Amino acid sequence: MIPGVRLVVLGKQGAGKGTQCVRLSHHYVVPHVSTGDMLRGEVKSRSAIGVRAQTLMDQGELIPDDMVMEMVGARLSERDTMGRGFVLDGCPRTTSQAEALEKILYPFGLDLVVDLQVPTALVMKRLASRRVCVDCGSNYSTAAPPMANWTCDVCGGEVIQREDDTEEAIGRRLDLYEAETAPLIAWYTERDLMVGINGTGSPDAVTRRVVGAIDSRRRRERAES
Ligand code: ADP
Repeated sequence: MIPGVRLVVLGKQGAGKGTQCVRLSHHYVVPHVSTGDMLRGEVKSRSAIGVRAQTLMDQGELIPDDMVMEMVGARLSERDTMGRGFVLDGCPRTTSQAEALEKILYPFGLDLVVDLQVPTALVMKRLASRRVCVDCGSNYSTAAPPMANWTCDVCGGEVIQREDDTEEAIGRRLDLYEAETAPLIAWYTERDLMVGINGTGSPDAVTRRVVGAIDSRRRRERAES
């Protein structure tokens, strides 16, 4: 049987988090819980959260911690995530979100936190050419478009450039990543949960590195217990 996993993936915008999280959720057979996708869903359905979130998201600003953590708490208390685990993408983004997540997950905690490391010059290039499906969130790029006329290969949805993938909003999100999210690396290192993974190279190569890190951590834990 394939064991599940309770995983957080960190990384700058454009580090390949979304792509890797989808692959890891298939590998470990657990849900991919993406706060960005959940918030875009709220915006699309024009819910109360969505209406408040839209302007902040378009400007590349963060959504208030309590709003995000309420949404994440509800998702992580469902049967599937409680049972086999999850790949959490886009959360936590601040140390206060990390503290709230620790409370939500108590007493089980996380197996590991992966930091996908990619140089800023490369992520800027990837983000400028990034295109996404409005319906299922599949990622494409101008260099690797869908097979037919910007129609998603997976679900047939329209493939577009995200509203917040403008140069200005990208710059703001990268600044916020340095200010708010990078400190999480120290926070999780102190708790012995952090592992840095080289995020450059082919998507397959990166997935192999992440799975290798998770498996070797499990072997180490088994040997210690
Ligand atoms: P990116 O990593 O490229 O910023 P995401 O899809 O993860 O893309 O997030 C898009 C936007 O959603 C963010 O810029 C932010 O406005 C909002 N968001 C997503 N997750 C969070 C979070 N954990 N806390 C606050 N805001 C969030």
